[in-house]
Amino acid sequence: MSDTSRDKVTEAGVAVIGGGMVGSALAYGLAKRGANVVLLDEGDIAYRAARGNFGLVWTQSKGDGMPAYAAWSLASAAAWPDFAEAMASAAGRSIGYEQRGGLVFCVGDAERDQRAAQLRRLHNQRDDAAPVATMLDRKALHDLMPRTPLGPQVVAASYAPGDGHVNPLYLLRGLHAAIRRHGGRHAPGAAVTQIVPTGGGFTLTRADGAMLRADRIVIAAGVATTRLAAMVDIAAPVRPQRGQIMVTERLAPLLPLPASALRQSAEGSVMIGVSVEEVGLDTGTTVKELARMAARALTVLPVLAEARMTRAWGALRPMTPDGFPAYAQSSTYPGAFVATCHSGVTLAAIHAEALAPAILAGRLPDGFEPFHPRRFDVRTAA
Ligand SMILES: Cc1cc2nc3c(=O)[nH]c(=O)nc-3n(C[C@H](O)[C@H](O)[C@H](O)COP(=O)(O)OP(=O)(O)OC[C@H]3O[C@@H](n4cnc5c(N)ncnc54)[C@H](O)[C@@H]3O)c2cc1C
Repeated sequence: MSDTSRDKVTEAGVAVIGGGMVGSALAYGLAKRGANVVLLDEGDIAYRAARGNFGLVWTQSKGDGMPAYAAWSLASAAAWPDFAEAMASAAGRSIGYEQRGGLVFCVGDAERDQRAAQLRRLHNQRDDAAPVATMLDRKALHDLMPRTPLGPQVVAASYAPGDGHVNPLYLLRGLHAAIRRHGGRHAPGAAVTQIVPTGGGFTLTRADGAMLRADRIVIAAGVATTRLAAMVDIAAPVRPQRGQIMVTERLAPLLPLPASALRQSAEGSVMIGVSVEEVGLDTGTTVKELARMAARALTVLPVLAEARMTRAWGALRPMTPDGFPAYAQSSTYPGAFVATCHSGVTLAAIHAEALAPAILAGRLPDGFEPFHPRRFDVRTAA
């Protein structure tokens, strides 16, 4: 069932605020388990990373400095194959998901040494023995992808067999269809402007004046999370961080495995990314960044010089101060939860399969403690 702003949505078991990558995965996980869910989404005028991201389902490099996040990412990658099947079934088509491994290319010896050191650090902070990623030298890379014409400066790459990629737009379509399939309601064009805790539940006011009462709420509004979370007394600092991406025309198969900042989609276009910029709420593109990204891509795959670029865009990552996810329940107003992260594609499976059940149970288990945003509270840290 789909709502419009004129529909009267007056009651829900759980209202999820934000229909991007995090909110949609949670609403799906909640609806699948029988909750009476409504997903309220501001819609087209909002800043939506869900529609502008790179589509990697990625574990290598995740959690440098927070072992719980590394483990969380690995658990999500492990849950992805079943999750992808459910999404493809709901979307009624392939969502372009592949999990055959992923690469981080190293241009020059210094990059190779830095990357190897980072992998060692990541490995040392985990208890289990198996490394998430290993280093491949140029010859091993050639053996892995004999037909990929890598540039001469590519000396190595890190390789994680559990990494993969997906078409994020088809993923979102699958999530929204799956929510409806499980009896949940999706309300696009429903910006929430006010949250008032009332009688053990919450009354939400939408920009169009409609009101909704919910027993529980989940705030997953991307870069708008901080303002809404404050209404239920959760301090969840999130800032926008821009990433630019450009896309080529469709090309013959060239790059069989996705790489950090370079992947070929199932349709053949090559996506080139991504910038990391602190520019506030600005989704524009700049010649400077696009030129830098193109130059890097040409160093890795010189043959791209012959490809035509068709599109470029900027999108905003919701970024916490340390870059790791933040999940919490309000201690002042139990029943109000917040969820935010900058790897919402990777974590979609675990959000649906582990975070949603915890929200439904009304308690985030002890394993979620490292993700609590109180770690940003200077009074706590002092
Ligand atoms: C350039 C770029 C590349 C990326 N690449 C990857 C990648 O390869 N892999 C990966 O895992 N992640 C990637 N990400 C990150 C990923 O896209 C985000 O982690 C994810 O989209 C965050 O999900 P979210 O739901 O928190 O926010 P969003 O997806 O931004 O969604 C927020 C939603 O909240 C809604 N909203 C806002 N305010 C309100 C309100 N008041 N009421 C109702 N609704 C509201 C908006 O309409 C929006 O739909 C990338 C991001 C960017 C920008």
